[in-house]
Amino acid sequence: MTKINTVLGPITPEQLGPTLMHEHMVLTYPGWDLDALCEHLEFTELAKTCADALGEVKQYGIKTVVDATPSDMWRNVELDRAVAEKTGLNIICATGMYYEGEGMPAYLKARGAMFDIVTEQYESFMKELTVGIGKTGIKAGVIKVATSHGSITPYEEKMLKAAAKAQKETGVPIITHTQQGTMGPDQAALLISEGVDAKKIVIGHMCGNANIEYQMSVIDKGVCLGFDRWGIDYLFPDNLRRATMLGLLGLGFADRIILSQDCHAQILGRKFVWPDFVQPLVANWSYTHIFKNIIPLLKQAGVTEAQVNQMLAGNPRRIFGG
Ligand SMILES: [Zn+2]
Repeated sequence: MTKINTVLGPITPEQLGPTLMHEHMVLTYPGWDLDALCEHLEFTELAKTCADALGEVKQYGIKTVVDATPSDMWRNVELDRAVAEKTGLNIICATGMYYEGEGMPAYLKARGAMFDIVTEQYESFMKELTVGIGKTGIKAGVIKVATSHGSITPYEEKMLKAAAKAQKETGVPIITHTQQGTMGPDQAALLISEGVDAKKIVIGHMCGNANIEYQMSVIDKGVCLGFDRWGIDYLFPDNLRRATMLGLLGLGFADRIILSQDCHAQILGRKFVWPDFVQPLVANWSYTHIFKNIIPLLKQAGVTEAQVNQMLAGNPRRIFGG
């Protein structure tokens, strides 16, 4: 029987239920705390903010949320644990590294001049998946990897190879970050050539591209597509995400798409207010946006309850359960 690591301990695939496969608690970037004017929020305050916002998904039947934050993006598994305790949601945390441009590759790149960082990073992933993260005893349940816009840098390639090695040994899913869907087929091909079962791979942020032919080139690899940025019109308009999804569902691919919002409850750093030109383009972005605004529109266009359930529950269960 497959066991899935949540931040409160292992669960069975049957216990997953409807699942948001790619969300976050906080959003920030390495260096946020070097801003002399950054806010330092109390842990209890932060946990309450996250639990209050994320807890709203329960009224739509969601049972599990994947916090897809990679290790180098202020992932905080104790915060995940506090939010899981407060909300009763299953929360699955990640081990992994973000893309080179916005992550924290300096340490690994420096070691890479002397040592084999594929092996070192594999060992690091394995420790977090099988022993625990830091001294918390909390084990990661997925591996997150990422690539740049239009390229996979040599550093990123090494991270993908390390992830593949750890995936094969543990069987956990790999969830990727792409820049607007670019390099989706390449990520899939690389991971598969390293021996990862395509059925365990979710290529993230594919909803940032409305080209059906391109989407098919990723589906053809046997992987799942992340339509996981609903509400971020600032990056790509929801109506084009929706048109693309309707095309794919029309072709019968409900079993190859997951739904999520890449949302957060708090931005860390200096007190943050979206600039005026961005505000209307993120106005709907929340943990509940797909339930309030997107699924009703999909249903108006003929998408069935069974297809929605497949994307929200059936696919996560298969991806985690093997
Ligand atoms: Zn994300």
